[in-house]
Amino acid sequence: MSDAKVIQCPCGYVLHGTGDAEVIAAAQSHARDVHDQELSLEQARAMARPA
Ligand SMILES: [Zn+2]
Repeated sequence: MSDAKVIQCPCGYVLHGTGDAEVIAAAQSHARDVHDQELSLEQARAMARPA
């Protein structure tokens, strides 16, 4: 059973991770590095989808 998760950024970039914590961390890092924005845990969690 896979726990793969994805978050699609509004810019179209898709973050992949294993489990919520990993994909949320990837999305927060992307938002910070690429968009200079802080993505809250709640925002990131709401965007996470099963891969
Ligand atoms: Zn983005």
